[in-house]
Amino acid sequence: MKTVLVTGGAGFIGGNFVLRLGRDATLTINLDALTYAGNLDTLSSIKDSSFHTFINGSITDAKLLTRILTEHRPSAIVNFAAESHVDRSIDSPEAFIQTNVLGTFQLLEETRKYWRSLPEAEKKAFRFLHVSTDEVYGSLGPTGKFTETTPYQPNSPYSASKAGSDHLVRAYFHTYGLPVLTTNCSNNYGPFQFPEKLIPLMIMNALKGKPLPIYGTGTNVRDWLFVEDHCRAIERVLEAGTPGEVYNVGGNNEKTNLEVVHTLCDLLDELRPKGDGQSYRDLITYVTDRPGHDMRYAIDATKIKNTLGWEPQETFETGLRKTVQWYLDNDTWCQRVMDGSYRGERLGSAD
Ligand code: NAD
Repeated sequence: MKTVLVTGGAGFIGGNFVLRLGRDATLTINLDALTYAGNLDTLSSIKDSSFHTFINGSITDAKLLTRILTEHRPSAIVNFAAESHVDRSIDSPEAFIQTNVLGTFQLLEETRKYWRSLPEAEKKAFRFLHVSTDEVYGSLGPTGKFTETTPYQPNSPYSASKAGSDHLVRAYFHTYGLPVLTTNCSNNYGPFQFPEKLIPLMIMNALKGKPLPIYGTGTNVRDWLFVEDHCRAIERVLEAGTPGEVYNVGGNNEKTNLEVVHTLCDLLDELRPKGDGQSYRDLITYVTDRPGHDMRYAIDATKIKNTLGWEPQETFETGLRKTVQWYLDNDTWCQRVMDGSYRGERLGSAD
């Protein structure tokens, strides 16, 4: 049976990916440090599964990595583990360097030693997939899209740390021949996302009748992808991607932040109307912009479409409707992940 080591599999995208692997006969070893963003509640449906082993630990721990690799002998590693919130990286960049740069380095280094020791056939079949972001490419003007050859120009401590990790992954292919794959994806949304990110934060604030804070004028543009489409892309790259290659993953859904929040409010007006008959849009307030806020991201996902046949299945409208419904149906998950350390307050204003 196939064994896959997933790092960060108690987080948003990693959690969705692990739940997906749980449907196949794949043995998943899930290594997660359970930071504020990691929640075992996300994995409650597979907690008794013999296909899933959870290990509480960090990708910065070389000894632990060696033990996991020798004991479980995975044929693939998917690296989701990261500090992932731009606003937090503005307030406290150090954790981003520790996990995203040094952690990825440690994981690569222990993987290289393990991979070198494998028999030839297993060595050839082995894959290391690094999950990254479109934010490494910097900010676009009103036109154009990021391709796999767009030069890196990260602007936040988060994107700079992810860029550093991407470069290390690339170097391990060129220097040691480690069969790596990198995916650079746009903004994800969907079930199990920690409510500090735009979409779940707005849903939760709206349901509590709290203000919906829009940074600046709300005109910053992001491309949005439903998390299950991202997980399908990662699966596809893992099974058919060419080692050493980079694949951009995007949803073809460019939206301003204000458009996203308007759509959310309209969905909530329909699915959970306010008692006073007013629209949730009335809760929108404008707050000081994020320092260094990138203006626009857009992904050209032609390569993954043409070479691997991957395309998103959800439109923004269908994906967002599913997401809002999921948050409405899973209030217990939302309450439990907000364990007191984060209460939806403003982060990353650099004051
Ligand atoms: P997340 O913050 O929800 O989850 C990250 C997970 O990593 C958490 O479970 C956390 O406990 C774990 N973790 C943190 N430090 C660790 C360490 N040192 N060792 C082991 N585990 C550790 O993040 P996410 O949104 O699910 O993002 C997952 C990956 O995808 C990240 O690498 C991120 O850069 C990338 N990505 C995210 C998006 C997005 O829109 N969320 C888009 C593109 C790429």
